[in-house]
Amino acid sequence: MRFAAARHWVFDMDGTLTVAVHDFAAIRRALEIPPEDDILHHLAALPAAQAAAKHAWLLEHERALALAARPAAGAVELVRALRGRGCRLGLLTRNAHALALLTLEAIGLADCFARADIVGRDEAPPKPHPGGLLQLAAAWGVAPGQLAMVGDYRNDLECARGAGAHAVLVCPAANPWPELTDRQVRDCFELLALL
Ligand SMILES: [Mg+2]
Repeated sequence: MRFAAARHWVFDMDGTLTVAVHDFAAIRRALEIPPEDDILHHLAALPAAQAAAKHAWLLEHERALALAARPAAGAVELVRALRGRGCRLGLLTRNAHALALLTLEAIGLADCFARADIVGRDEAPPKPHPGGLLQLAAAWGVAPGQLAMVGDYRNDLECARGAGAHAVLVCPAANPWPELTDRQVRDCFELLALL
């Protein structure tokens, strides 16, 4: 299958459908997480009470970002076009489900995703683990190879590779991960133009 013919699309949210605003270095500093550590993995390894307090801080911080979210170039047009063609759409994010929903509302795309197809960090193992993609493929009754995964970061590409899905990178600069990428586009407008 060529990715342009895909009928099943899964999107990363932050930095792909929205303009990236997370300052992960600042989050790590605030939560005393070493610069080289994965934030979610680090929190998962803490004693329960400490993890809960830091998760609560993270949720509050991310809630403010969600409310102020702005759509990335072409994101609204691309998602609406795919919906209009009857494609199944999923969202796979390391953010929390409730905040993903808030973000989609803020950028005017909440009506384009079925609630069950918004997979956050509490519904599946966080990317780069392919579990979330495999879960969506199973729910939709298609082989993972029928999915196109669209994201702006290495985690998204590794997740797609691990699941056997098509890996689409949205990135205006030189691709740092060509070996993980099936197709690179500058922004969602360029992706829409290819379909
Ligand atoms: Mg992202």
